[in-house]
Amino acid sequence: MNFESFSLNPKLTAGISAAGYNTPTPIQIQAIPKVMQGCDVMGLAQTGTGKTAAFALPILHRLLKDRQSGVRALVVAPTRELAEQIHESFVILGNSTGLRSVAIYGGVGIQPQIKSLKRADIVVACPGRLLDHIQRRTVDLSRVDVLVLDEADQMFDMGFMPDIRRIIAHLPASDRQNLLFSATMPAEIGRLADEILKKPIRVAVGQEAPAETVTHAFFPVAQHLKTSLLLKLLGNTKTDAVLVFTRTKHRAKQLCVKLARAGFLSTSLQGNLSQSKRQDAMSGFKSGKYQVLVATDIASRGIDVANISHVINFDMPATPELYIHRIGRTGRAERNGEAFSLITDEDRQMVKAIHRVLGHIERRTLSGFDYQLPPPSPAGDRRTDQVRVRHTNVRAGRNSHRRDASGVFA
Ligand code: AMP
Repeated sequence: MNFESFSLNPKLTAGISAAGYNTPTPIQIQAIPKVMQGCDVMGLAQTGTGKTAAFALPILHRLLKDRQSGVRALVVAPTRELAEQIHESFVILGNSTGLRSVAIYGGVGIQPQIKSLKRADIVVACPGRLLDHIQRRTVDLSRVDVLVLDEADQMFDMGFMPDIRRIIAHLPASDRQNLLFSATMPAEIGRLADEILKKPIRVAVGQEAPAETVTHAFFPVAQHLKTSLLLKLLGNTKTDAVLVFTRTKHRAKQLCVKLARAGFLSTSLQGNLSQSKRQDAMSGFKSGKYQVLVATDIASRGIDVANISHVINFDMPATPELYIHRIGRTGRAERNGEAFSLITDEDRQMVKAIHRVLGHIERRTLSGFDYQLPPPSPAGDRRTDQVRVRHTNVRAGRNSHRRDASGVFA
């Protein structure tokens, strides 16, 4: 199977080559012909499967077939990072089409967006800022032919459903093609799909399961030794880019500081940062300026950095679905990846829940690590982590970590 067999508009060939795609992924094989036929589609697929191009290519094809001015395609996505990435995919895949895409999200100036919206064919937007534009009448959605709701389950989790319904009320009702993508299918998303989609074709890839190219390991550890264990783990493991997840923004920031002190080129991505800092963190991580990105769940979707070799759950996620989304940042596009989770006694229930969904996950201990080190004294001796930081033999830079010759894991 190759891209020619879809008979896409020849203007898309250059974009497909520019993106570096040779053969379509399974979701693309399933979805592209159906979207090209004009069907509504319910896509059950996680990020990393190539689902963006699965809707972007047939949308570009459709807009080329019947060129008209105005916003003809609207993609709604939960996070700024995801909106930006989808927009970038449209730009690359559509590089020879003359069609214009614009990304619309909050945290940045509205004026440049107003200007770009005047000439846009495709809008990729987060719900809040799009509603702002709708209220200001700086976007006209009355000519939208195709609506895509991407990562619908996350939009639901983030409380965006009322916003989505308000946005949809501004779209033309008749003859609109609707595509809904979601990594999981909770009942609420089923209801939304029933409301919006007309006789949808269902396509499913890797349903509720992480990529098979990812291996998983749990590292049991006491809460107070997590930072030391992480540093030792990073110091002993050959990694490319590493994404570390923490439970809170504060913990992300703190951990990033500790990693940087230990010599790792680190940055953090969390909701408290200004948009320009978020973009700096992302672009620095993508370019390799930073080897480790410490993030909250804001980053668990949408991040598409090809060379993430390791996702490390410094703190366990709140649900098995979140676990799947987080580790979906590695093992993308058929590459291999490893997902490590530091687990404490408090995570017992979540460990069980993840085992139920994914089957048994191997437990590992790190040879040479002192698991018996006592917690800091109540008097507030907080030096434990710092002392171990100094003793940990780490060097900054990609691929600079040595794997213990005897095998790291006992
Ligand atoms: P997505 O699931 O859309 O976030 O895509 C995950 C990654 O796979 C992105 O880096 C895409 O550029 C890449 N990708 C998408 N389609 C293909 C393809 N047919 N061949 C190779 N890589 C692809």
